[in-house]
Amino acid sequence: MLSVQEAFHLILETVQPVAPRQSSLFDACHCVLAEGTISDVNIPPFDKALMDGFAVRSADLPDGKATLQILETIYAGNVPALPLQAGQTSQIMTGAPLPEGADAVVQIEHCQINEEQQTVQIETAPVSPGTNMLYRSSVLEIGANVLEAGTLLRPQEIGALAETGSSQVSVRRAPSLSILATGDELVPPEEFPQAGQIRNSNEVMLYTQVLQSQAHPVALGIARDERSHLREKINEGLKSDFLLLSGGVSAGTLDLVPSELQAAGVKQVFHKVDLKPGKPLWFGILEQEGRSPCYIFGLPGNPVSSMVCFELFVRTAIRQFMGFPAPKPVPLQARLKTDFQSSGSRPTYQPAQVEWESGEAVVTPLKTLGSADLRSTVSANAVALFPEGNQLFQAGLKVDTFLW
Ligand code: AMP
Ligand code: MG
Repeated sequence: MLSVQEAFHLILETVQPVAPRQSSLFDACHCVLAEGTISDVNIPPFDKALMDGFAVRSADLPDGKATLQILETIYAGNVPALPLQAGQTSQIMTGAPLPEGADAVVQIEHCQINEEQQTVQIETAPVSPGTNMLYRSSVLEIGANVLEAGTLLRPQEIGALAETGSSQVSVRRAPSLSILATGDELVPPEEFPQAGQIRNSNEVMLYTQVLQSQAHPVALGIARDERSHLREKINEGLKSDFLLLSGGVSAGTLDLVPSELQAAGVKQVFHKVDLKPGKPLWFGILEQEGRSPCYIFGLPGNPVSSMVCFELFVRTAIRQFMGFPAPKPVPLQARLKTDFQSSGSRPTYQPAQVEWESGEAVVTPLKTLGSADLRSTVSANAVALFPEGNQLFQAGLKVDTFLW
């Protein structure tokens, strides 16, 4: 059977980063930058006041006390007209350019203005060069790199791009993902299940996992375990960048998903991966004339399997689609807080709780009744990875964990 690493490899080989497009900054949040950017300005563009007060020559205030002659008032957006000579000052507002000769700003709270004599009496701590100001280009020089290709654009990156003159950027967007739950036993969460029925918890769970990945979910509801209904729903889902199906990929006689996907022209890349939970995972691609491919995941129906497979594999595929430089999940080493007895023939991704103790990550594997026990994941914020076999992992050992 395919190992988890081989499955990652096949996903990264199959999923192509979406073609970049030019985007205004207003539409670029949660996209990934496709080309690096450089600054077309110095930041700040001039020696800049960080406080409302008086621009001074620090040499005039070695002990913080002086009476200085006021030349002018400089507001943000002004250009100062008069350079400061020894014994002179200009009133200045936050964000305004310092006059020539000034190398510090004294806060207005430490200044007594004498309107009649056009002087100000200053009493403050000794003033050193650079106090309450930023030197020209001290943050960034014109032509310097601002953001690298592969950077996820959050509000702060969007602001930095605006500041440095990149009002249009080349970005890769987040994908759309259709979600289709399959199974005759399923009823919507708002219904009370009758004999033999259970609620469809996977659809809304996957929907919110997609939202958490900053991508765009499309809920398609429930497909019955019946070929024509399943086919109709699959065709609807294939219009998105990704189609996520839950259930119907195991070995039951009504597990129709793989054969119906293949009938729809989807090429299987792999079926079954050596992990617990999540073994029945199915992955394929639909190549389409004149438009980008659709990538299809058949997720196991058991809720914990579905959730784990999304976090490991679907999230990786989304990140690859968006052009992240390192799409795979990165393990965090954590110290076991309690003993853990592993069992079974597959590597296990155990729901777990990671906490921080004196700056160190410690992990408690949670008790679970298996892949149908969604309740056990409610206190989980991670999965901990244990290799296959029956083995006692003692408290204090370091294990790989993946944060959710
Ligand atoms: P399947 O892979 O279709 O055989 O489903 C495996 C198990 O997961 C069965 O017990 C199903 O009832 C359950 N299951 C399938 N789909 C869902 C769903 N959407 N929500 C909750 N449980 C499900
Ligand atoms: Mg089923």
